Amino acid sequence: MPRTKLIAANWKMFPPPEGWDAMDSPYRATDDVDVMIFAPFVYLKTCVAAGLRMGAQCGHHEPTGAHTGCVSMAMIASTGCETVLCGHSERRRDQGETDEFVAAQAKAALTLGLFPIVCIGETANERSAGKAHEVIERQLRTVIDHLDVSQLATRNSQLAIAYEPLWAISGGDPTKPAAKPSDAQEMHAFIRSLLPEPIQKEMLILYGGSMKAENASELLSQPDVDGGLVGGASLKPEEFRAIVEAARTLEQP
Ligand code: PEP
Repeated sequence: MPRTKLIAANWKMFPPPEGWDAMDSPYRATDDVDVMIFAPFVYLKTCVAAGLRMGAQCGHHEPTGAHTGCVSMAMIASTGCETVLCGHSERRRDQGETDEFVAAQAKAALTLGLFPIVCIGETANERSAGKAHEVIERQLRTVIDHLDVSQLATRNSQLAIAYEPLWAISGGDPTKPAAKPSDAQEMHAFIRSLLPEPIQKEMLILYGGSMKAENASELLSQPDVDGGLVGGASLKPEEFRAIVEAARTLEQP
């Protein structure tokens, strides 16, 4: 089965951009391309009610408990969200999320019928020290080893990976360059080679890191790049529309 491209917007700690709920909003899913939006918790229910396909930016693996400030996967599922980001690099950096915590989040999400998108990526220093593959393999294996792969296969691989090299994430700087398409493809092919057989061909591997209108088409046309996780550019509706359009053009025969 061919993999349908997924373009995901990560609004980070920003409110929904102007016009987000218009009928022709770029944040609505299209026939050819899946579009999903990751918004701060307080906006999730309103955006779901307006017909957007929503996800949370993180979630706790315990259903309830003494975890001040956290929101459980069960609570996220109850808002009508379909998906959840696990292990975004900003949460690993700011909240100290470990590989094991990320794996537990992904497992809890799957158990509750949420589609987890697990973010992995190496720092600039790790890449220049020649350790990029080692880091990616460690981050990925911790998650895969924690999950029941036969369950994943029967769920039609309701799990995706987002490769987000930290050196390419814009951090709000729109001039930051993305990874070269050939470098993204090389790492995506490596990630796919590490996936177990039943899910290897089906699993979506998204690219994230300074994807924008000007580079989306070249990145998305790489054979193992199945979509994008878009941060800064997703806050500009017309820029985001152009990225979705680039994916749509590639999906059409
Ligand atoms: C992100 O933080 O997930 C991201 C990809 O950000 P940006 O597109 O701004 O680099």
